[in-house]
Amino acid sequence: MNATTLDTTQALAQVSAQWDRSILPQLKDYIAIAAKSPMFAPDWQQQGLLEQVVRNAASWVEAQKVAGLRLEIVRLPGRTPLLFFEVEGTQPNANAASSPTVLMYGHLDKQPEFDGWRSHLGPWTPVLEGDRLYGRGGADDGYAVYASIAAIQALKAQNVPHPRIVGLIETSEESGSGDLLPYIDVLKPRLGDVALVICLDSGAGNYDQLWLTTSLRGMASGTLKVQILTEGVHSGDASGVVPSSFRILRQVLDRLEDSATGRVLPASFHCAIPEERVAQAQATAAILGAPRLRRLHAVCAAHHAGPGAGFAQTHLGAYAVGHWRRRPTRFAKCWQCAAALHSVPAQFAVATLGRCRRLCASAENVAGRQLPLSGQGDVGRCIERQWLECAGHDALV
Ligand SMILES: [Zn+2]
Repeated sequence: MNATTLDTTQALAQVSAQWDRSILPQLKDYIAIAAKSPMFAPDWQQQGLLEQVVRNAASWVEAQKVAGLRLEIVRLPGRTPLLFFEVEGTQPNANAASSPTVLMYGHLDKQPEFDGWRSHLGPWTPVLEGDRLYGRGGADDGYAVYASIAAIQALKAQNVPHPRIVGLIETSEESGSGDLLPYIDVLKPRLGDVALVICLDSGAGNYDQLWLTTSLRGMASGTLKVQILTEGVHSGDASGVVPSSFRILRQVLDRLEDSATGRVLPASFHCAIPEERVAQAQATAAILGAPRLRRLHAVCAAHHAGPGAGFAQTHLGAYAVGHWRRRPTRFAKCWQCAAALHSVPAQFAVATLGRCRRLCASAENVAGRQLPLSGQGDVGRCIERQWLECAGHDALV
């Protein structure tokens, strides 16, 4: 007898048990493998780690013996490997060419190590603390293949008919998915008529409910370089005479973004925002409210944003001071945090000026011409070239 809808309580119990028993050990093994994306591991082919994590995932999937599932590791020459699976549909007529397919997507390549791990944690050391598993790649995006298969198994355990399902688990996502489209071209005939894509590679607002990400902001990246001189000059000789590279950078960036409001200026980056997106954003804000804002604030984004600006401006100074005291090294390394200091009161800037050249570069923008005396005093103690190239400093001297 087929059920038509899923008993979610039963499904949760089944998947939770499977997660703890079978998937968690897989994720721990996965975390221990430094399967960095090609951008961060140009010798990925020699390392063989992407190959290894794909094989490990494939072995686990095959061991599940999901009815109607076929799996293949697809390899195009010179490209990162891709795990492809297809599961026959169990709805009436589900396997006809014209019937819709559900596509599940994830990736197994990882971001690099970075720093800032607590002393007993590390990128390649899986540590389970309470119900959180720490280590590189477990959440982004190692879990995706396991979650996909577990979801299909939950349907099958309750005999809920499902459409044909295919899965693409790639290994170049963190490098911009350069290999994904060539694989899609090759696999197109086997994907079928894809009607729904479930991309298991996004965030969750909290751990209390199921979240679906329906839209993300876009991203454009590049390398911007400003070259002023053909060779280095001694500190103190050139500032105020040679134009500051920071000032030129700012002017160029200001053509793209209003630096006071964060609004992206070229019209081609904008689109009409559908009404339902606005409604979804409002519903999200109603659920998450201030705690979420604080989280955004922690990465120094909120003070740019319209709705959070008041909150951020009020709390930014206190936050920045607290953060600085708690984690000076991390703060100094975080460009985004330094940028947040644009809104920090001048007093704070004065007090901390000279401790961190990145911090100083931002702080001077805040303090502007109010700071010449303190600025010069602190500049004197700092002999780093970049500091002297700071745009604010040019203005002061
Ligand atoms: Zn990801």
